[in-house]
Amino acid sequence: MKTIYTSGYQVIFNDPQYDSVNQYIDTLNPSKLVILTDSNTSLYCLENFLSKLKTTTPLLKTSIPAGEKHKNIESCNLFWKFLSENEADRNSLVINLGGGVVTDLGGFVASTFMRGIDYINIPTTLLAMVDASVGGKTGIDLGLLKNQIGLVVNPKLVFVDTKYLETLPSEQFNSGVAEILKHGLIASKDYWSLISTSKILNDKSIERIIYESVEIKKSIVEQDPLEKNLRMTLNFGHTLGHALETYSNSKENKTTPLLHGEAIAIGLILAGFISTESLGFSKEKLQEITNQYYRYFNRISLNSQDIKSVIDLLKFDKKNVFGAVNFVLLKDIGSPVINQRVSNDLIIKAFEYYLDSK
Ligand code: NAD
Ligand code: ZN
Repeated sequence: MKTIYTSGYQVIFNDPQYDSVNQYIDTLNPSKLVILTDSNTSLYCLENFLSKLKTTTPLLKTSIPAGEKHKNIESCNLFWKFLSENEADRNSLVINLGGGVVTDLGGFVASTFMRGIDYINIPTTLLAMVDASVGGKTGIDLGLLKNQIGLVVNPKLVFVDTKYLETLPSEQFNSGVAEILKHGLIASKDYWSLISTSKILNDKSIERIIYESVEIKKSIVEQDPLEKNLRMTLNFGHTLGHALETYSNSKENKTTPLLHGEAIAIGLILAGFISTESLGFSKEKLQEITNQYYRYFNRISLNSQDIKSVIDLLKFDKKNVFGAVNFVLLKDIGSPVINQRVSNDLIIKAFEYYLDSK
């Protein structure tokens, strides 16, 4: 068993018999366990999880439909009602068994039900293992606008079991790779060189990679839990990435709908390009980012109207201050700079670079 200790909770790896989860439940002695899944994790992950539980605590199970479009207030309402109708109380424990949608939404519902009950995260996607389940950001979308409503409340425990990745579709796996690439770019040349020279696959090496990514995220969040400065660096690639994700899933869009990580991966290239133009980030390193992109993703096509619509969405970015859009850029790999203003012309040039890249 390997453990990362962070502000008030532990992230546990490599504990195949779930001893740490069982021990945690024994010590907490909750009145009820409430397991939240989505329609896929109830099918692919729940049975394994239940087979590891060794508790006599009463157990409730509920599920939301899978997908980002259900990370909304309607799903929260159903979950709040479920908790209330099943007499969950302040001593009940919510267990989020799923990807980032389940951990974000389940964490938010738990943190608001009866002014806050405890929750733990058992991430079942690569993206949730390396990013969404750690750091305490919980929340939901407002219409198509990402994560507009939420709270920062830490889970009591995060338990990583890479066995769940066996049933994860490959495009979902690759979506998680985007956040891993981001961690390397913002935090560490060594980690960047490790992930860019080894193919990130669901094999033995994946556990080490997840561990290192969580270490990076934990260290950043610990230094700046309220996102005043350093934590903003975790938004590298996300300013345009989120706007692209929102746009590609909107009705007016004519391009492919993108998963979170697929949009972020494009955001990494765009922010990398902008960094070369405004901070002297090296062109060779931009090419390295581009090369990594094409190991996991295919280029999507966007016309000038699509690009304009994406730029229009930037006004909803949560990093905006007094109406100005703020980018995270790179001076070098491992040297991010926050609060960078970028002109629309430069954003358009960045899209042109992406559309011509190989
Ligand atoms: P997701 O939760 O939608 O999961 C992706 C898909 O995989 C879903 O269809 C799900 O049902 C399915 N799935 C999950 N586990 C499976 C398994 N083991 N086998 C088969 N199918 C499985 O998406 P995600 O990529 O995990 O997370 C994206 C979400 O995370 C976004 O909403 C994003 O905003 C959020 N996020 C949050 C943070 C944070 O700090 N809180 C950080 C990054 C991302
Ligand atoms: Zn992300």
